[in-house]
Amino acid sequence: MIKKILVANRGEIAVRIVRACAEMGIKSVAIYADADRHALHVKKADEAYNIGPDPVGGYLNAHRIVNLAVATGCDALHPGYGFLSENAQLAEICARREIIFIGPSPEAIRRMGDKTAAREAMIAAGVPVVPGSDGNLKNVAAAVKLAKKIGYPVMLKATSGGGGRGIRRCNSEEDLTRAFERVVSEATKAFGSADVFLEKAIVNPRHIEVQVLGDKQGNVIHLFERDCSIQRRHQKMIEIAPSPQLTDEQRAAVCELGVRAAKIVNYENAGTVEFLFDQSGNFYFMEMNTRLQVEHTVTEQITGVDIVQEQIRIAEGQSLSYRQEEIQRRGYAIQFRINAEDPKNDFLPSFGRITRYYSPGGPGVRTDAAIYTGYEFPPHYDSMCAKLTVWALTWDKVLARARRALFDMGVHGVKTTKPFYLEILATPEFQAGKFDTGFIEQHPELLNYSIRRPTADLAAAIAATIAAHRGL
Ligand code: ADP
Ligand code: ADP
Ligand code: MG
Repeated sequence: MIKKILVANRGEIAVRIVRACAEMGIKSVAIYADADRHALHVKKADEAYNIGPDPVGGYLNAHRIVNLAVATGCDALHPGYGFLSENAQLAEICARREIIFIGPSPEAIRRMGDKTAAREAMIAAGVPVVPGSDGNLKNVAAAVKLAKKIGYPVMLKATSGGGGRGIRRCNSEEDLTRAFERVVSEATKAFGSADVFLEKAIVNPRHIEVQVLGDKQGNVIHLFERDCSIQRRHQKMIEIAPSPQLTDEQRAAVCELGVRAAKIVNYENAGTVEFLFDQSGNFYFMEMNTRLQVEHTVTEQITGVDIVQEQIRIAEGQSLSYRQEEIQRRGYAIQFRINAEDPKNDFLPSFGRITRYYSPGGPGVRTDAAIYTGYEFPPHYDSMCAKLTVWALTWDKVLARARRALFDMGVHGVKTTKPFYLEILATPEFQAGKFDTGFIEQHPELLNYSIRRPTADLAAAIAATIAAHRGL
């Protein structure tokens, strides 16, 4: 049984893991760089240790973090998302030092972390993938030759990419020739690997992903899907479970593909299999994230499964708490990533002092935040400062609740994406549950909002549009 966990992360996800530990009677140990001295995860964990002046480097130093886990008497380590969460070496170092790594095996991390290796594994398992290159591209000439064969537009992607970076859509040979060196150098800098590959660009796709859980006994189940099509520059902004765009048959099909993908790599712990869903109803495997995901909250809200606690139980060697047929879903959940960014200024990060923070409440509202009144939001990290997740029994009720909760939430002192989300909520497409990954680019007018108070008129207008789309 795990008694003490080192949380190798920061921000809201570190707080989320500390909360799971507290409910399970497990002690938690936080780590923090100097810039994070006043961060929330430091206050919430049972113990906290300074890892030095480098704001980012400290969170990436696997040897030092595992040493700290050993020195502080931890028996396990949770990597969260980002940072070292998909680093197979961290999992190996943990194994050598007899610290339980709360995540999949180093082999599964390696295989799925490499997008071309993952594609190969999926092809072998009969899971459809986006048409594209066999392995990595040797040079720009090879890229041009292949693109000619599969047809433009194509996506040029970094093999070890993530977080929406290292991806470029190319509409022509000129685009591709121009983008190639740039993506290679970006990938080298950001991910330490120059490998790139090509995929056909799916036109107006929806991003549908399946949450899976696997235990050490070989059981794999899914917790249904999430729709993460509301994205800006390939980065998710709003996530929904279940997808309002799938029929029950499509849902069953994609969830089965997710489980098949996980089984083929003997996947253990929590993971996400990402698919693109085209306008003709086909699913294509895109990648697998071998870690806890930012948007796991929406799945927790519709299934009632605590995914972080399940991760810990799996790492302990216990079998899954649920059989597939025991997983029930109820209602809809939507998560909004509240980023400290100014939507009106090209989403420029807006760091600084949070002069006032009010966490919204009431029925069906959940916040996972890293901020508090008086906190100096540091400039060295991700701009996401909170996640707002709302749940309701029906689609129309969750829309109304989302609007109410966004107005209820108060983040002052920095600009945030909150007013932009209110605009998205007010569109007929979003309310009808019909949107693809191009939605934000196709609606530049959504940035023309002015900060306003909820008036009874506005509420009534939105309620009327929602009523028109009832029945989802
Ligand atoms: P999710 O799929 O959980 O929504 P994101 O793609 O938003 O994840 O990434 C979550 C965090 O992890 C972000 O801070 C992102 O920059 C970081 N991240 C994701 N993949 C990588 C990677 N391959 N290398 C470095 N950082 C990554
Ligand atoms: P990351 O590792 O950064 O999450 P993904 O491979 O998951 O990268 O792609 C991120 C996003 O980029 C997808 O959600 C989708 O919007 C877009 N995308 C990726 N591949 C394609 C493709 N072949 N066609 C169209 N859009 C794509
Ligand atoms: Mg992805």
